[in-house]
Amino acid sequence: MELIETDLSAYSAEETAQKLQANLKTGLTDPEAAARLEKFGFNEISETEKRSLWRLIGDQLNSPIVYLLLVAAGISFFFQEYLNAMAILIVIVINTAVGFIMEFQAGRSMDALKKIASVPAKILRNSQLQELEASRIVPGDVVFLEAGDVVPADGRIFRTSQLQVEEAALTGESVPVEKNEAALQTGLPLGDRLNYLFKGTFVTRGNTYLLVSHTGMQTQLGHIANLVQNAEQSATPLEKKLAEFSKKLIVVTIGLAIVILVSGLINGQPLAHMLQTVIALAVAAIPEGLPIVATLALGRGMLQMARHNVIVKKLSAVETLGGTNVICTDKTGTLTQNKIEVTLLATPSGTWEISENAQIAENENFNFIKYASVLTNTAEITEKGADAQEIGDPLEVALLKFARNYGTNIVVARQQHPKLAEEPFSSETKMMATLHGQVPELMVFAKGAAEELLNQCTGLLEHGEVKTLSPELKKVWLEQSEVLAGSGLRVLAVAYKTVPEMPKKLSENLIFAGLIGMVDPPRPEVLPAIKECLSAGIRVIMITGDHPATANKIALELGINTPDGHPPVTGNELKPASEISPENRHYLAGANVFARVNPQHKLDLVQLLQEDGNVVAMTGDGVNDAPALKKADIGVAMGLRGTQVAQDVSDMVLKDDKFTSIVVAIRQGRVIFENIRKFVIFLLSCNLSELFLIATVAVLNLGFQLLPLQILFINLITDVLPALALGATEGNPGIMNQPPRKAAEPIIDRQRWIAIIFYSAIISLCALGAVYLNHYVLHPNEDWHAGRYNNILFYSLIFCQLTHVFNMGAGNRFFFRSEIVSNKFVWLALFFSSLIVFVSSLVGPVRAALGMQEMLVTDWLAVVAAVLTSLFIIQISKKFKLIQQ
Ligand code: ATP
Repeated sequence: MELIETDLSAYSAEETAQKLQANLKTGLTDPEAAARLEKFGFNEISETEKRSLWRLIGDQLNSPIVYLLLVAAGISFFFQEYLNAMAILIVIVINTAVGFIMEFQAGRSMDALKKIASVPAKILRNSQLQELEASRIVPGDVVFLEAGDVVPADGRIFRTSQLQVEEAALTGESVPVEKNEAALQTGLPLGDRLNYLFKGTFVTRGNTYLLVSHTGMQTQLGHIANLVQNAEQSATPLEKKLAEFSKKLIVVTIGLAIVILVSGLINGQPLAHMLQTVIALAVAAIPEGLPIVATLALGRGMLQMARHNVIVKKLSAVETLGGTNVICTDKTGTLTQNKIEVTLLATPSGTWEISENAQIAENENFNFIKYASVLTNTAEITEKGADAQEIGDPLEVALLKFARNYGTNIVVARQQHPKLAEEPFSSETKMMATLHGQVPELMVFAKGAAEELLNQCTGLLEHGEVKTLSPELKKVWLEQSEVLAGSGLRVLAVAYKTVPEMPKKLSENLIFAGLIGMVDPPRPEVLPAIKECLSAGIRVIMITGDHPATANKIALELGINTPDGHPPVTGNELKPASEISPENRHYLAGANVFARVNPQHKLDLVQLLQEDGNVVAMTGDGVNDAPALKKADIGVAMGLRGTQVAQDVSDMVLKDDKFTSIVVAIRQGRVIFENIRKFVIFLLSCNLSELFLIATVAVLNLGFQLLPLQILFINLITDVLPALALGATEGNPGIMNQPPRKAAEPIIDRQRWIAIIFYSAIISLCALGAVYLNHYVLHPNEDWHAGRYNNILFYSLIFCQLTHVFNMGAGNRFFFRSEIVSNKFVWLALFFSSLIVFVSSLVGPVRAALGMQEMLVTDWLAVVAAVLTSLFIIQISKKFKLIQQ
C-alpha cells in the first residue's frame, strides 16, 4: 500500500476499502495491523517541542533571587573577598540544581499521568470488535463509534445511523454537523466533507463504522497540531496565590533589609560587609522555593490519587477537591455495582420471575420482549476462546444475556433481522427504537423509561390480542412500573409495531408488550463512604435518569436520604437558576435525590448549588453531561462507563467508576492543602526568624552577627529537605472530621499569621538566648568570644529551625502523637540536613567560608538548650491553644 491520498471523500466506502487494502466486514488481521503499525507508526500527535534541558536550566537562572546573588558576588569581588564571591556562586549553582531537579521531577510526574490517561477504541480486528488503545489504530482499521466517542483517526464512514458530529476542534463550527455516507466530489473544505470523520472531533449522536485512512500526524489534526496543542500548563490558583505572596514578602524583606543596613552603618560596620549581609538576608528571607514546592506537592498528590484509580487532569483540581462540600453523583455504576440483571417481566399476559432455570411458556409478549432485547440494542457479547468480552452499556448487556438464557442466538437473530433504521437512546428521550424486516413487513421495536414509552403507545398486547391502550389501562401500567421501581428495580418498558413501509418516526403509535424489571445492587463500600462524607461536612446528592421511586429506595439504603427526609425531586421541577422563585429555590436546594434528570437539569442544579456558595463536584458520563461537568468546580468523569468527551472536559476521571474514589480524592485533596499550608507556615516562620535575629543583632550592635554565607547556608539546609518532607505528610487522622475549607479562605489567615510571628519570635529569642546562656551561665568569668558566639547562634538557629518541623502537626495534639512524627520523610530530611551541617564543618574550605570554629561541649549544651526550649514553648502554646495553626 502506497502513500494514501489526502482526500478520499469522492469514493464509496467499498472503493476506499480497496484503496486501503482493507475489509469493511472483517477489519484487518492482527499480522496486517502489526505490519502497518510498523510502517505508519503510532496513531499519536507528537507533542510540541518539550522544554529542552538547557531551557529548563536557563529558566532557573532567570530569577530576581539569582540576580540579587550575582550582585552580592560582584560586590564581594569588588572588595576582593574572593572566597565569599566563590561561595555565593556555589550557592547559585546549588539553587539552580535544586530548582531544576524539582521541575524536572514535576514534568516527569505529568508524563506518567498522561500515559495512565490513555484512551481505548472499539476496533474491528479478525472479524471481532475489540477494545484496543487508540494509539494502535492503523490505516485500514475499521472502528465503531457512538455518541460520546472522540474520533480517534481520520476516515470514511459507513453503516452510519443518525450520525451527528461536533467538529469545533477542527472547523471552529460548534453546531454539530449531520454526516452521511454519500460520495462527494474531492477538494471540499473540511467542514463539507460529510462522509468523512476527523481525528479530535466527537460524536454527539448516533453511531457509525469508520474506515480509517489516516492516523497520527497524517490526520488533519496532525497537520495543524501546533495550533491545537494547549501549549504550557498554566499556573493553578494556588500557585498564583503563592507567587503573589512571595512578591509581597520580597517588598517587606527589602524594607527590613534597608533598616538593618542603615542601623549597621550607624553602628560603624563596613559598607561592604553590610551590603553583603542585607543581600544574603534578603535572599534567605524570600521563600523562592514556595511555588515549586507547592507544585511538587500537588503533583505528588496526583500520582498518589492515580494509584487509587483517580486521574486528576489539572493540578488546580487537587486544591479545589480539598474545599469541595457537595458531591452530586450519578447512581448507576457509581453508587450501584452496574451488574445489572433482569429479574422480572410484568406483561399484560402474565408476570414472571426470571432466574437461571425459570421456564416461561411460549407467548407473544415474551417473544417480543426477547426480540427487542436483542435487536434494539447496541451492546455486544463476543466469545473469544473461553472468555467473553462485553462491550456496551451494562443494561443492554443484561438484556442480551437474558435473551440468550432463554434460547435466543444473538448473532443469528441480528443477521436475520438486520437493522434498517434507528432512533438511538438519549438521556433526553429516555428511549430507543429500531426498524427491522423487509417492505411490506417492517417491524419497529422500542424500549425505554415506562412513562416516556407508554406515552408513545396506543395499543397493548394481551394473550396474543392487541387492545387499545385506554387512559385507565395506561394508568394501571404506570402504577405497576411505580410499584416495581419502589422495590428498587430499574424498570424498562418494551413496545413494538408493524408497518408496511418506512415510517417517518419510529417511536409512535406503538403497542405495549410489557415491563422488564432489573436489579442493580448498591456497592457495599458506598455506605461507609457516605458516612465519611457526612462527618466531613460534605453533602451527597444523587442525580439519576432513573425513576424517582427506584432512586429513593437506593438513596435510603445508602444513607443519602432518610425516610422522613426531603422527597425526591424530578428533573422537570428544575429550571435555570434565574427562573426559580426564592421559596422554590430553598425547596430544591434541600433535596438529596434528583430523579428523571436529563443533562440540562444537571447544569441547572450545579448553577443553583454554586449560587448558594457551594463548591460542587459533579459526576457524569454522557456526551450531554459535558456542560455540567465543565460548570462544576470539579467535573468527575467515569473511566469505564464514561464517554471520551466527558473524560475530555472533566477535571478528574475515575478509572473504576466508584463513588469511594471521589471520597478518597477529596481526602487526598484536603491532605495536600494541609501540607502546603504546613510548609508555607514552616518556611515563613524560619525565614522570619532569620530576619528578626539579624535585625536585632544589627540594631543592638551585639557584635556576633551572622555572616552572609551562614545565612545562605542556613537557608539551603532548612528550606529544601524539611519543606519537601512536610509536603509528603500523610495527613492527620481527623482530616475527614473537619468541615470543608471555605472557598475564599486564604492559605494564611490572620490566626496563622499570628502563629508564624509567634514561632519566629520564639526561635530567634531562643537562639539569642543560647549565646547569653553560654556567656553568663556556662562561662560566667570568661571574656567575650565573638567568633564562638556567632557559631552558637548559627547552630542554634539551624537546629531550632530543623526541629521546628515537629511543630507543624495539625490541631493541638502533642509532639509524639502528631502526623509529622510518623512521617518517615521528615526524619530522613532531618538526618540528611544534619549530616550536611556536620560534614561541612569537617571540610576545610567550607569550614573557613562559614567561619566555623572549635566548639566547646558547653557551647553545644547551649545549642541543645535553645532547641529544646523553643520546641517546648511552641508545643505547650499549641497544646493549650494559646496559638492555633
Ligand atoms: P444514572 O443517571 O444514575 O446513570 P440512568 O442510567 O438510569 O441513571 P439514563 O441513562 O439517563 O440514566 O437513563 C434514563 C432512563 O432511560 C432509564 O431509567 C431507563 O428507563 C431508560 N434507559 C436507560 N438506558 C436505556 C437504553 N439503553 N435503552 C432504552 N432505554 C434506556
